[in-house]
Amino acid sequence: MRITVVGGGIVGLSCAHRLAEAGHEVGVVAAGKPEDSTSAIAGGLIYPPGTQPADRVARWTVAGVAQFRRLGAPGVRMVRGRLVLPEQTPEPAWAAAMEDVVVSGPALEFTTALVDTPVYLAWLAGRVAALGVRTEYRTLSSLGEVDAELVVNAAGLGGGALAGDDSVVPVGGQVVHLADPGLTEWVVHETDSAVTYVIPHGRHVVCGGTEEEGRIGVEPDAAVAADIVARCRALVPALAGARVLGTKVGLRPHRPQVRLDRVGDVVHCYGHGGAGITLSWGCADEVAALAGS
Ligand SMILES: Cc1cc2nc3c(=O)[nH]c(=O)nc-3n(C[C@H](O)[C@H](O)[C@H](O)COP(=O)(O)OP(=O)(O)OC[C@H]3O[C@@H](n4cnc5c(N)ncnc54)[C@H](O)[C@@H]3O)c2cc1C
Repeated sequence: MRITVVGGGIVGLSCAHRLAEAGHEVGVVAAGKPEDSTSAIAGGLIYPPGTQPADRVARWTVAGVAQFRRLGAPGVRMVRGRLVLPEQTPEPAWAAAMEDVVVSGPALEFTTALVDTPVYLAWLAGRVAALGVRTEYRTLSSLGEVDAELVVNAAGLGGGALAGDDSVVPVGGQVVHLADPGLTEWVVHETDSAVTYVIPHGRHVVCGGTEEEGRIGVEPDAAVAADIVARCRALVPALAGARVLGTKVGLRPHRPQVRLDRVGDVVHCYGHGGAGITLSWGCADEVAALAGS
């Protein structure tokens, strides 16, 4: 079947990969390059914070952890770390996906994949191209502009507008990159008012973060950056002398629930919020199943 995937972030590229592997004739249409997508800003920790629907998210997370472990792709490492949730939070449905998880009170320790997203996206784009997928760079104002037997709407934040769905909103996230002093674990500390995370990738550590609903611009804020660095250094004292390498802002494609369904000749797969790296392979598997043979 002739299929066009709209979107060249992590979700679109993973869908294109699975569909091309399944023998379809696949093209990608994207407004921008993978390195300029929200996916390239992400911290790259494989776990799905607060994403719905919980049962499907848990299933997609299991698939994602397994696939990232199996891939042996550049930029991906399996690392143990610690997630501290706000007091009284019930154990998340996805926790069972982490095979060595140890739960003690509000803290969960487990091994998961850390994805250095710019490195991994470059590799994934290369794999997709090697499977014969052509990418065309243009911005669509309607899915009807695509000439294909099946269209996959994987346009992230743009996916809502293309589907006539106004429930997708940007949730801004600012991160600061520090030089990695050789950290051997990741840490996420969630409270009711803030999430602080430290995700080491070897060449740098992604430190965060913020969750700013309705944010539009991606211009970093110096005061916010200073606050992130202070929070992360308090959480991981080994970062005390680590050099600041840069600051980035991305807009998460938030939706009350991830949309993954088929309506006629369109498969919608967007609205992954703060978990699109985690859910990319699980969702791509399901998109390929919905496409059929
Ligand atoms: C600061 C921050 C930290 C994060 N950390 C994590 C994390 O640790 N783990 C995790 O799992 N997730 C994390 N995320 C979330 C993750 O980045 C997103 O869920 C994911 O990138 C969404 O991927 P996507 O491919 O759907 O969208 P995008 O990466 O935004 O890609 C969308 C694609 O669609 C194209 N497009 C859009 N509109 C159109 C149009 N009209 N026509 C043509 N093309 C179009 C764009 O050009 C782009 O190619 C984080 C996000 C942020 C901002």
